[in-house]
Amino acid sequence: MSFAKIAERLDLYRDEMIDLQIKLTSIPAVSPSSGGEGEARKAEFLLKYLRSSGITDIEVIKAPDLEAPAGYHPNILARYRGRSSVRTIWIMTHMDIVPPGELSLWKGDPYKPWVESGKIYGRGVEDNQQDLIASVFAVKAFQTLGLTPAYDVGLAIVADEETGSTKGIPHILKKSTAFRKGDLIIVPDAGNADGTEIEVAEKSILWLKLKILGKQTHGSTPERGINAFKAASYLAVKLDRLYRAFPENNPLFEPPISTFEPTKKEANVPNINTIPGEDVFYMDCRILPHYRLEDVDAKIRAAVRAVEKKFGVTIITEDMQRAKAAPPPPPMVGDAKVFAHIMMQD
Ligand SMILES: [Zn+2]
Repeated sequence: MSFAKIAERLDLYRDEMIDLQIKLTSIPAVSPSSGGEGEARKAEFLLKYLRSSGITDIEVIKAPDLEAPAGYHPNILARYRGRSSVRTIWIMTHMDIVPPGELSLWKGDPYKPWVESGKIYGRGVEDNQQDLIASVFAVKAFQTLGLTPAYDVGLAIVADEETGSTKGIPHILKKSTAFRKGDLIIVPDAGNADGTEIEVAEKSILWLKLKILGKQTHGSTPERGINAFKAASYLAVKLDRLYRAFPENNPLFEPPISTFEPTKKEANVPNINTIPGEDVFYMDCRILPHYRLEDVDAKIRAAVRAVEKKFGVTIITEDMQRAKAAPPPPPMVGDAKVFAHIMMQD
């Protein structure tokens, strides 16, 4: 059977895909750490949908989390058998979304998607539902047309991608042997409109909390205290030198350099005439994979020690997220037709 037949079949699913988008979006899967309820209800809905679509070879791996109303984050692994099971072609997508942000900036209710000029708008419809739905419908097309792919196809529909992934992929790797050497894993979670952009590598990620402890005093008597905000500001500027310490370019990445940015700033004192004794800010560092995170740590420690010495403050650093990038895999792409195409390959 020609690929055109599958593509034709997929085109017929348009309205069903929109309907599934609308239903999935109406169940907000915002992480408990971002004030939401997690993915449990969305997963329940999806499981029902998959089963009623004839995709019944399903495993659910739950990552416990007392913060989540359900008590866990669900990870769904669904399989469609191929001619050979020596390897699985996984399409990995995530259920969770980030909060919609400032509501007045939306043209409509972010949880009630609408279609406008051939595009669908709503929170999560792009990241990552379009790919989740594309992978489900690629399998549906094979099923409907009675096709058997060359290898097993796996739909990994995971949790907790937006807030560090610990309840998602790392948990699956700990609890299951589903992912094997030789499997092909496609993660369609970024790209351009026509699906031609292929991301083959990620930077290492380092999110840091920096707590600066000085000594609170009245605004008129700075000599009696230690201004934690001033020391923090000095440190933030000093850490900008990380750009110079790790200056290399790699055109595989956008932007091609490592980035070291101060981001979140916690409120310190509520009034103008108090010199704060404590100040907290955060850094978001994205580091090219060939750099060692230990070397970045060493530079940060040196900056921290210098500021401690200069101001007499104590600085406590804490990792909020630390993930060493994996070595770059070979290129792959993502939309339903591309998935179907890959599934046909021997
Ligand atoms: Zn995503």
